[in-house]
Amino acid sequence: MGHAIRLRTDVRDRLEGGAKADIRLCWTCGSCDSECPVNIATGMLRPQKIVRMAALGMQEELVCLPEVWYCARCRRCAQICPNAVKPSDLIEHVRAVAADRRKISPVTLNLFSELWRRFQRARWHAVAACLAGEDFGDLAEEQWRKWLSTSVPEHLGSIPRPSAYHLPDDLQLISDAHRLAACFTCGECSSACPVACERSVFDPRSLFRMVYLGLEKELLTMPSIWLCVGCQRCSDCCSQQVDGQRIISALQELAITSGAVDPYFRQRLEKAHRNLYNRFISEIDSLINDGKCLTIEASTDTRDREAQKVFSE
Ligand code: SF4
Ligand code: SF4
Ligand code: SF4
Repeated sequence: MGHAIRLRTDVRDRLEGGAKADIRLCWTCGSCDSECPVNIATGMLRPQKIVRMAALGMQEELVCLPEVWYCARCRRCAQICPNAVKPSDLIEHVRAVAADRRKISPVTLNLFSELWRRFQRARWHAVAACLAGEDFGDLAEEQWRKWLSTSVPEHLGSIPRPSAYHLPDDLQLISDAHRLAACFTCGECSSACPVACERSVFDPRSLFRMVYLGLEKELLTMPSIWLCVGCQRCSDCCSQQVDGQRIISALQELAITSGAVDPYFRQRLEKAHRNLYNRFISEIDSLINDGKCLTIEASTDTRDREAQKVFSE
């Protein structure tokens, strides 16, 4: 027989205040569960459960819950919630409390950041494979490890320099609709973006610059435009009110409607993402439960060498 849960209103209020999330407004509709891409792919992350636990004041249990580390920070749960509960902000807050109270050690936290950075690389490689027409039935362990440890070459992430810049009509429309001309390349968007861990993998400021310079062919065929998780942090933080999230979403649409990517690309990408999220969650589990992380392969990448220093300490 299960034991009764005692409602801790004081803890709930603290969680609500800390997260700036209206936990009590949740009416358990489950929309967040249905929208969460990690939950869709794996069935392992239910934002509603986390909100309910917070509403009951179960902070002790929450800070030890591996699920809070599964979150892809896309904020779709917050965007879909009819009551503006913001489960994503609650998850961020629980992570901060767990770190603050040493429920997760600083070393594990570093390992987690490194895993997150490499996960974005793996996503880039998966998109590149999908763009090349590859269809994933299953993602082999060897392939996953290889993607995690293979840097994205810088030249693919740098901005090419044509002899003359010309803004094609469709890019002009995107630029005008989302105030791109007001961008003064301050880089706030890239600092706020949870996916922008390595410039060669994903950097919103560079993408916006490429739109401004009219580099349409490069943009529509590059894997990076498919890495955006749609969280809107770039749009929210921009002092010039450039709507970065909508720009990237418009680029994705244009890639499809212009035929730059084939009509089945999105299906292949969804399948690949299912595989990737399942792999990512397994890595988190072994990291949180056993303190073990992915093997760091020998690498010439400077950032990898820095990370290795952290691991060996
Ligand atoms: S979508 Fe909002 S109201 Fe519905 S279960 Fe999730 S947090 Fe609660
Ligand atoms: S932020 Fe995204 S990944 Fe995280 S719980 Fe919400 S919907 Fe799921
Ligand atoms: S919406 Fe903006 S901040 Fe969020 S992932 Fe996309 S580019 Fe990054």
